[in-house]
Parts: sequence; C-alpha cells; structure tokens
Amino acid sequence: MGVIAVVGANWGDEGKGKITDLLAGGADAVVRYQGGSNAGHTIVNGFGKFGLNMLPSGVFHAQVVNVIGPGVALDATRLLEEIGQLSAQGVPEPRLRISDRAQLVLPVHKLFDELEEERLGDRRFGSTKRGIAPFYADKYVKLGVRVAEVAQAAQANGATESAAVTRLLERLETNLAAKNVLLPQLYHCAPLQAAELLPQLLQIGRAIAPYIADTGELLRELLREGRTIIAEGQLGALRDPDHGIYPYVTSSSTLAGFAAVGAGLPPQSIGRIIAVTKAYSSCVGAGPFVTELFGGEAEELRRRGGSAGEYGVVTGRPRRVGWFDAVATRYGCAVQGATEVALTNLDVLGYLDTIPICTGYVQANGATTERFAADTAELEGARPLLETMQGWRSDIGGVRRYADLPAQAQRYVERLETLIGVPIRIVSVGPGRDMTLERP
Ligand code: GDP
Repeated sequence: MGVIAVVGANWGDEGKGKITDLLAGGADAVVRYQGGSNAGHTIVNGFGKFGLNMLPSGVFHAQVVNVIGPGVALDATRLLEEIGQLSAQGVPEPRLRISDRAQLVLPVHKLFDELEEERLGDRRFGSTKRGIAPFYADKYVKLGVRVAEVAQAAQANGATESAAVTRLLERLETNLAAKNVLLPQLYHCAPLQAAELLPQLLQIGRAIAPYIADTGELLRELLREGRTIIAEGQLGALRDPDHGIYPYVTSSSTLAGFAAVGAGLPPQSIGRIIAVTKAYSSCVGAGPFVTELFGGEAEELRRRGGSAGEYGVVTGRPRRVGWFDAVATRYGCAVQGATEVALTNLDVLGYLDTIPICTGYVQANGATTERFAADTAELEGARPLLETMQGWRSDIGGVRRYADLPAQAQRYVERLETLIGVPIRIVSVGPGRDMTLERP
C-alpha cells in the first residue's frame, strides 16, 4: 500500500532496475518520474537480460501499469524501439501510460548535447548524449514541447492547416530561434528548419497516442484504492543538481522527494524509501570519486562487477570503480530520506582476502572528516581513510537465506549498516530476481 521509492544512494548504476523488477511482482504500478533514456537499468529475469533506457522496470509483470510521469524527458523513439525489443524477446505487451504533461526530447536536444560535449573537450561532463541537459534547459526556459500538444497536432490527420499543427510549428520555431544563432556561430553547423522537424514529431504523436493519459489522476486513483506504486529513480543522490557533486550532476532531481513532483504523487504517500547501493562503488562520468581504484586492482573489480563487468548500459564505457564509500553513501541515504537500504553486488567481492571500506576522508590539509563536502575541489583533494575487513573467499551466488551467508559476509553487511546508519533490508547476491536475500 502506498508509494515505495526505489532510488540510488550513490552515482547511479546501483542496481535499481533489479530491485524494482523484483518488488514490482507485488506492485500495481511503476512510475518513472525524472531523467530519460540516459537511464540504463539492467534486468535479468525469466524472459532474458534487458537494459531498459526509457521503459519503467515494471514491464515484465502483467498486472503492473507502467507510467512515464510528467517529470520525465521522454525519448519517444527509444521508447518505441524498446517496446519492439521486448516483444521480439517474447515479453507480453506491457501496460504503459505516458503523461500528457510529459515533454519530448527533440532531435535538436541530442544534437546540442553532442556538440556541447565536443566543444568542452577536456572539460566535458561525460554526458550520455541522450539530450538530457538541453532538454531540461529548454523545459525550464519554457521552450519545451509537451506530449499533449504533439498528440493534438498528430490527430489532425495531416491537415497542415489545422490550428494545432500551426501552434506546434510555432513552438518549434520559437524553440529553434536562439539555437539557430548558436549553431553556425558557436558550433559551425547549419541552422535547422522547424518545418523539417514537424513530420517526424507528428509521426511520434500518432505512435504514442494509444498510451497517453492523465497519469497524475491515474496514480491518485490507485492510491485511493489502496494500491502499491513504485516510484523508480534514475541515477543516484550524488548526481542530484541541488544535493550532488555539482556541476557533475544530471539535470533533474534524482531524489525520492522529487517523485512527488515528477510523478504527481502526494508527498505523504511515499512511505518507504529504498536507497540502493552496491557493496563497492562504481561511477560513470566525471566528478570527484574519493575511493576510486586504478591499474590492476580496478581492472579486476571492473571485470568481476555487475552482471557483465562494470561497463555503462547506455554508453558501453568502462565504469570507474572503487571500494565502498561510507561517507558518500551515508550522505546519499540522508538526502534520499532512506528508510531502508538494498545492498547489491555482494557476491562480486568473493574473490578478496580482505576488503577495504572507506570510513572517512583525509583532506588535503591532513585533517580527517566524515562530512561529504559541497566543494567538489575539496572532495577531489581528499584521500580515503580505509579500514579493512576479512573477506569470505567463496561464491555466495547460490545462497538464498541471509543466515546462510558466510560469517565474514554477514559481518561485512553489518559493518556497512552501522556506518550508513540505515537498516539494510535487502541483500542481493546476483543479477537474477531470485538471487536476493531479505533481512529481518
Ligand atoms: P541501475 O541503473 O541502478 O539499474 O543499475 P545498472 O543496471 O546500470 O547496474 C547494475 C549492474 O549490476 C547490472 O549489471 C546488474 O545486472 C548488476 N546487478 C544487480 N544486482 C547484482 C548483484 O547482486 N550481483 C551481481 N553480480 N550483479 C548485480
């Protein structure tokens, strides 16, 4: 009953997709409330292995309504491709609803994302180039294009004179006006014509028409009926624009609190907040990462991590990896308002004799701190203060009860729990749905 938020405690890629897919078995709806096709949620279940970018992770359960909320950057092309891929892999057609208030990622957003990263060169942010930053920039300067207006124009059946089509064309022209100054002046590219973008947008409008709904009303009705809704976060707390490692952040809030806004849910309905964290750290993209490993140690952890090594689902880039960072994770859980933690990838550490944990940061001036600083330069100058725990040196992927874990693995989990200060209720020992242990 009520809303369960499944969110990231760190830099993203914590395993939210797996946890959402698992919990969706007992839910009535899964809603994405921020981000877009820059998400890469890996799910391994009876249907196979999937890397979902745009679809909510509840699509493998027939009873679940999957919702794209108004706060999402809707990459409709990617969404339609993913629906096709699911069907090709034998997944029954999911129940999907797209908010009429959501806005669409336009091809020009992806273009600007690429051009800007290229222009920044060494100072680039490591964008996934899915158009996310230009999309949200347009949204907040009120140049965005909403699903409702595209759908209305698409219904006009190609009658270019229709008022809705004219309005949409005017929106596109307004959207492009400033960009068409920047394209030749800053990026040395040809300007874009609104009329050339229109047909594709109308086609998208027709393709997504069957899914469009007032999703806020739909979710509120489910709550009135006492149903369970999962709000699925994308990326993690440290990529939040307000509370994260600015400017190495994403462009929409990654926090559970934002689910109320981005999905359109009463804030008080969010009763459980599950912060997902790995038993070690991983990070895609730029920014401070105090426990980062390099060389052979990093390569070994990267190769063994996740379901197929630590490589980005969207970009294929090698992820940066490091030891578990209790300073960053405690902070991440605090800003998420976590009521519990799901610890994933515990099995990955089975190859180590001893396992370091970062319990504090040694600052450039030699002082130690347990505070996660706002100043990214301070974080970049910090070294990890490490304590070492004994490893369990075995494959725990087949364990199905927490009590059956080796004593060293239990001690590791318990130590992390003490350091984070939030109960670890779920422990994941493999990518599959059943490879999950509940803690009392
Ligand atoms: P998300 O974006 O938060 O859903 O995370 P990603 O899917 O980007 O990355 C998590 C990676 O860890 C994926 O490869 C998952 O299949 C994998 N994974 C999740 N839980 C476990 C686990 O307990 N053990 C292992 N070995 N892999 C896991």
